[in-house]
Amino acid sequence: MNKTLPILCAIFLLHNNMLYCKKQKKIVSLDTDKMHCLAKAYRSYISKITKNHTTGKIYFYMTNGQVIPWQDNPNKTFQEKLVSSSLADIVSEDYPVNKDILNAPHLNYDPGRFRNSAFFQSIYGSTLSAVKKNLVEVPWLPGTMKQLSKKPIHLLFNKENGAAAALEKVSQTLDRLPSSFKKYVLSPAGTFAWRNIAGTNRYSPHSYGIAIDISTTYSNYWRWDHQDNLDNKYVKYQNKIPEKIVSIFENNGFIWGGRWYHYDTMHFEYRPEFFCKKPIKASVAAPVTDLVKTKSGSAFCPKPAN
Ligand SMILES: [Zn+2]
Repeated sequence: MNKTLPILCAIFLLHNNMLYCKKQKKIVSLDTDKMHCLAKAYRSYISKITKNHTTGKIYFYMTNGQVIPWQDNPNKTFQEKLVSSSLADIVSEDYPVNKDILNAPHLNYDPGRFRNSAFFQSIYGSTLSAVKKNLVEVPWLPGTMKQLSKKPIHLLFNKENGAAAALEKVSQTLDRLPSSFKKYVLSPAGTFAWRNIAGTNRYSPHSYGIAIDISTTYSNYWRWDHQDNLDNKYVKYQNKIPEKIVSIFENNGFIWGGRWYHYDTMHFEYRPEFFCKKPIKASVAAPVTDLVKTKSGSAFCPKPAN
């Protein structure tokens, strides 16, 4: 490797206040572990991350041309974060990977419900036709369907960022479960659907083809269970989905709506940013670039493009 390249890169980066750039070998530190996790999970769709040293503002430049600020207002209420999420809001709550599911989530603890539309649309498609182009068919429990002489099911899922590949891994693992678990997953209620989240004007993750509802029969949804209480005064947690099924999804980069205070227990959603500390299997995740820790935080050191 040319020894002058790192020096030239450093000069270039300092001049441009750049935190991350696909084409550079050595990058200065990202501000926080959470920013690092978000950038790592979606690195194929981010061309650079910059920081304005005068204002302190950080911007994600997406490969589709979108420029999205990391943070808007750090003092938003829960409702404000839901309605208008910044990138920082997306990862503001830690998701409890593979933790005990018996405990009810505490008030307004909804890791994964804060979604920045511009960000996810940059990855999975910003219009109905754009998303449709990214959808592929995932065979659902093919072995079990054959065994039970049932009609094969093919679920539409987004192929971007390894989402459909991750769902296929889930399907293959569920297929091998003892028969007592199959009733929870034999009749999925849906994956892709271009629609808003119930009671809101925000796009559902089902619009992007990155979410699956595994069963209506065994599900609990806070809105259905609290028709008289949609102003959130109290929510009494309920769940019938076994931990075994939850862990299969979580092992493949899916979060579960049953871990939310505003629970939706049939809902699983591909969100690799919450599995930063527990690496997703290489065969499922997008190609891994080199990541190193520095004294000031986490740094991106992507391999140079071939
Ligand atoms: Zn759902």
